[in-house]
Amino acid sequence: MAILICGGAGYIGSHINKQLHKEGYETVVLDNLIYGHKEAVKWGTFIKGDLANIDEIEAVFEKYPIEAVYHFAAFAYVGESVLEPEKYYYNNVVNTLNLLQVMRKHGCNKIIFSSTCATYGEPEKVPITEDMPQNPINPYGMTKLTVERIFKDYQKAYGLQFAVLRYFNAAGADPDGELGESHTPETHLIPLVLDAASGKRADIKVFGTDYDTPDGSCIRDYIHVTDLADAHVRALRYLEAGGEGDFFNLGNTIGTSVLEVVESVKRVTGRDFTVTLSDRRPGDPAKLVGSSEKARRVLDWEPQYGAIDTIVSHAWNWHEHAEY
Ligand code: UDP
Repeated sequence: MAILICGGAGYIGSHINKQLHKEGYETVVLDNLIYGHKEAVKWGTFIKGDLANIDEIEAVFEKYPIEAVYHFAAFAYVGESVLEPEKYYYNNVVNTLNLLQVMRKHGCNKIIFSSTCATYGEPEKVPITEDMPQNPINPYGMTKLTVERIFKDYQKAYGLQFAVLRYFNAAGADPDGELGESHTPETHLIPLVLDAASGKRADIKVFGTDYDTPDGSCIRDYIHVTDLADAHVRALRYLEAGGEGDFFNLGNTIGTSVLEVVESVKRVTGRDFTVTLSDRRPGDPAKLVGSSEKARRVLDWEPQYGAIDTIVSHAWNWHEHAEY
């Protein structure tokens, strides 16, 4: 049997591919390479293809005995989703329906899906638990929530087994230095601060210093990508053991402010750089921290790389030796 990883050439999917390989699973990666990197597919079989094309999905299921599917193939730029919602609803929602259609035809009923804390919108309180209201404040978050709802209906009607994993801020890089984060354009905080540390950028802009937080900058829950990968393997085991369908937050339960991230980068790299205090970025909640108590309890998951300095040092190692 094989495991299909849609979007397995991307940042998170490539780390899951490595983890599955370590655990002895045979993997098939399907990726259109719009944002993914062929060089990031170091294990298993790579197939270039797009979930918009049902024939391409069919071809994979005809050729390989797919037991379960990981689905990372989505667009994830919040700002772009506001400007081009059609692009996001087609790629993130309609193309997921294509995938589910082919899975059903071939009797494959296990899916592990990358969702996001953006489905919660502005939380009433933190830490956020899975049962809190989900009111996304942008189309990106709404596409992910829509897919979550589709899974529930497919579970009832067709017996789909699903694990929805709602990530907080995925960060860091493979501790062995084989994989890392490489986005074009890059919008995420840690890679941008590392660019400032290495001199690729003139400065790092801190978006907002007047939030209701101890140092005035936004607080986020940074979770190491290898810890995410570990949770994904556990989610597969949960489905293999008969789990019917559930939703899990994946975070550290530790809040780190933007200014604390900047300090960590200075500590880890030993470099100084210009920090520009800027206006707020529209749509940023002050504080997003997740409770991952449920994932710990149900999946027996325990993050290994929680310290922000560890996350930053693995990201820095990749940043300085990036292969793609
Ligand atoms: N941020 C910042 N400067 C940047 C990029 C991001 O101050 O150049 C802040 C952003 O406002 C947010 C945090 O860093 O509070 C994390 O942003 P990121 O885009 O990495 O992830 P998000 O939380 O938006 O998913």
